[in-house]
Amino acid sequence: MVSSKSPEMQSAVAPAAPVKRQVDQPFAPEQTSGLASYPPPDQWDDWVEYEPRAWPEKREHHYMLVPTTCFNCESACGLMAYVDRETLQVRKLEGNPFHPGSRGRNCAKGPATLTQINDPDRILYPMKRVGPRGSGQWERVSWDDALDAIAAQIRSALTEGRPNEVMYHVGRPGEDGYMERVLQSWGIDGHNSHTNICSSGGRTGYAFWMGIDRPSPDYANAKFILLVSAHLESGHYFNPHAQRIIEAKTKGAKIAVIDPRLSNTASMSDYWLPASPGTEAALLLGMANVLIQEELFDREFVRRWTNWEDYLQTLHPEQEVSFDAFVAELKREYAKYTPEFVEKECGVPASMIVEIAHEIARAGSALSTHTWRAASAGHLGGWAVPRTLFFLNVLTGSIGTEGGTAPNVWDKFVPRPFAEPSKQKVWNEVSWPKEYPLAHHEMSFLLPHFLKEGRGKLAMYFTRVYNPVWTNPDGFVWMDALRDESKIGMHAALTPTWSESSWLADYVLPMGVGAERHDTHSYETHAAKWIALRQPVVRIAMERLGKKVDFTYQANPGEVWEEDEFWIELSWRIDPDGSLGIRKYYESPYRPGEKVTIDEYYQWIFENSIPGLPEAAAAEGLTPLAYMRKYGTFEIQKQAMRQFDDPIPDEELADAKIDQESQVVWSPSAKPHSPEITPMPGGVAGPDGRPVGVMVDGQPCRGWPTPSGKLEFFSRTLYEWGWPEYAIPTYIDSHVAPKVLDRAAGEMTLLPNYRIPTLIHTRSGNAKWLNEISHSNPLWLHPADATRIGVKTGDLARVETEIGYFVDKVWVTEGLRPGVVACSHHLGRWRLEDTRAGDGWSSAKVSIQENDPGVFLMRQSRGVRPFNSSDPDSKKIWWSDAGVHQNLTFPVQPDPISGAHAWHQRVRVVKASPDDQYGDIMVDTNRSMEAFRRWLKMSRPAPGPGNMRRPMWLLRPYKPDPVAFQIDGPTGR
Ligand code: SF4
Repeated sequence: MVSSKSPEMQSAVAPAAPVKRQVDQPFAPEQTSGLASYPPPDQWDDWVEYEPRAWPEKREHHYMLVPTTCFNCESACGLMAYVDRETLQVRKLEGNPFHPGSRGRNCAKGPATLTQINDPDRILYPMKRVGPRGSGQWERVSWDDALDAIAAQIRSALTEGRPNEVMYHVGRPGEDGYMERVLQSWGIDGHNSHTNICSSGGRTGYAFWMGIDRPSPDYANAKFILLVSAHLESGHYFNPHAQRIIEAKTKGAKIAVIDPRLSNTASMSDYWLPASPGTEAALLLGMANVLIQEELFDREFVRRWTNWEDYLQTLHPEQEVSFDAFVAELKREYAKYTPEFVEKECGVPASMIVEIAHEIARAGSALSTHTWRAASAGHLGGWAVPRTLFFLNVLTGSIGTEGGTAPNVWDKFVPRPFAEPSKQKVWNEVSWPKEYPLAHHEMSFLLPHFLKEGRGKLAMYFTRVYNPVWTNPDGFVWMDALRDESKIGMHAALTPTWSESSWLADYVLPMGVGAERHDTHSYETHAAKWIALRQPVVRIAMERLGKKVDFTYQANPGEVWEEDEFWIELSWRIDPDGSLGIRKYYESPYRPGEKVTIDEYYQWIFENSIPGLPEAAAAEGLTPLAYMRKYGTFEIQKQAMRQFDDPIPDEELADAKIDQESQVVWSPSAKPHSPEITPMPGGVAGPDGRPVGVMVDGQPCRGWPTPSGKLEFFSRTLYEWGWPEYAIPTYIDSHVAPKVLDRAAGEMTLLPNYRIPTLIHTRSGNAKWLNEISHSNPLWLHPADATRIGVKTGDLARVETEIGYFVDKVWVTEGLRPGVVACSHHLGRWRLEDTRAGDGWSSAKVSIQENDPGVFLMRQSRGVRPFNSSDPDSKKIWWSDAGVHQNLTFPVQPDPISGAHAWHQRVRVVKASPDDQYGDIMVDTNRSMEAFRRWLKMSRPAPGPGNMRRPMWLLRPYKPDPVAFQIDGPTGR
């Protein structure tokens, strides 16, 4: 059985509660989410509730209600902090009904922010290492001392011509645009991210189609929803998306979920399609083929909006350039993906594929699709999954339509700050090596391997909300690099919590959780554009009470600070006299020559950069800053549909020229558009100015930010940059596809990268409520495999990877395909010592032994147990499991195109040996370096056409100046 629409499945689909709020109703501050229980804004300064524990005595609590946003996943849902007016303690966090994305609702992780604020194990003061790195010897230092030491280190690197020795490596940024300004003001190409172990595969597949790397489905109005991931429980953007998927379901939409594992999302769907891992793209092309062969696709949309002419002229020059000829070729290209072939390949019945294809055709322009992580982050060639998924949107014309799938930039707004620095003129080859010219993000998880190879070194390394030792594959190589002071001169960990990586830092700098810091952000949660302000709620409450606060650490617990103010202070100290040209970006736009305050920074943005906000604020008699501080959020506009069809504005057409071959419209006088904000072809300036649109049927239209201005069925970029075999949407053999595995030898596919809805990678280690709910990551195993291996639920099994093994307990379940094992990546936190090394709620104490050179055994000496602290609950811990840290046993597996780590593992699962203990990890780093070199060899390095490191039109975070794109351009050192 590989596919299910069984009676059991159908009965599992419980009718969801009706949603009263009209989704297309304009959002306004006076409106709540339709529930009547939110306190009205006119009482937010003194909201009264009774103390429940004093009942029946009616003891009043007087609260100041301060909105902020959640930082426990990337959705940035609205939160409302209830700050006690007397004690200034946050007593609870609930939803903010004014937030357009979350509409007053949160998942378990939102309110659990309270437990992160009150965690007795949290870091309260800046700490400096005093013994050898990793020895666990620390002393408390002042913020001034830490800032001066770090500023001196950076200043030396900049003044000595080593700009690329400064690197900022972020896990969850939680902000839009702030750090871009900081790093570009320093003139460095020093941004590094976690994205290549997360969403690069997904982004790449979308970017090759539309030049924009994320989808924004209008789930609420969809007729059919096709998901390749667990979106109801853990997808991007979890809570805002989940509530809209359910909304569509209550209106009759059908849901299909492709996932080898029966996730909660799959259990709520109409069709669960557990395709063999690595065959998802074949399954999607099977559906596409039904639409193509039966001519159920939107001919007019495909004709107008794909670059089929270029495809014919380049790959089929013998053909006449007509749409009929293209359709004939299309039928020939995809004819091999018959339902029968796909059934054989994927294990999904042919009839089911045809049935779903027909459902998709019926949904037409109301097809919402989404994938993020999951298969796209699992496989060699994983980026082909979003590419083939979006192909279904292209075929049905369901792009930018009601109920369809839009590019995310239509539903996202990034405000511009004051005094924007120019782009850096250097290229960092450690993060953007020549081998990966098309990688969507930095080759972050290869950093220690590159350092080991001698490709560079770092004078200053920041980690922020990032735990690379734990989160990346091949963590022992990370530990090695982080310990080596000749490779990393100074490491500052900006973090709310102790972690496996902050243990290896020189400075540990405590930063606030979601209710203790400033950020702005905007995400594509639905068909509208909004912006939200995260703010330090106690500071705001104090200011409302008339107390003066200069820096956020004066209001937060201990001296917990926030990054925004930290970077201002640090930048000022790097360039105190302005001679490096940095200081000017940190001078107030309101008080020339003086240091900007955090209020002024956001005041300027809200006054100058958010359309409609000043007017909305004025209507309430507020300044824009006061409005945002009061409501925490502002809806900018509802999504306009089919924006690619919009005419090019007259002012841009005035002096425009049409490139006769490509039909792209160029304007010599057009101002640069940000491809993150306004779709436009290519976005790359040329001798004729800038592209501003494309001619379609003789009409100038806005088009897409691709070289052709159209949706690129044919990718000239892939064709010309060494990958002609992938020039059109296709199916790429995964490293764990069924045909690759030796099933007779017991080989299986491990799915190690799925989320559970109650944990947050490493950041929930300090959330006691969440750890009480979820503290195990057993190995999911199908009964047939359990029988073959000879284990039952609770038994220990050893999972052997290419570089080692881990030992976990087994959970036997029919909820996944035979031949597949699964283990959630959230668990398995560990610490080397009892204190200051990890949270008591979540981590096991371990020892690490090097048995042979480069061969390590990590063993748990004890799991979680009760501990003494200021929180009486810490003595009541009833669980002992901390889970198993599987990532340590994975080699790096970079996809040669997207650069994404292919998380899925080719493993053997065997019964544990008598010597094995729960949680054992064995890793041979010699073998992991061999795996690194083998995957590196798959790459096809730059330069590409024009002697370029990378195509200029492709998105790149912190995009440098064009001069740095030349292969012989400046690299910095
Ligand atoms: S989905 Fe949950 S964790 Fe994510 S931002 Fe919303 S409330 Fe927070």
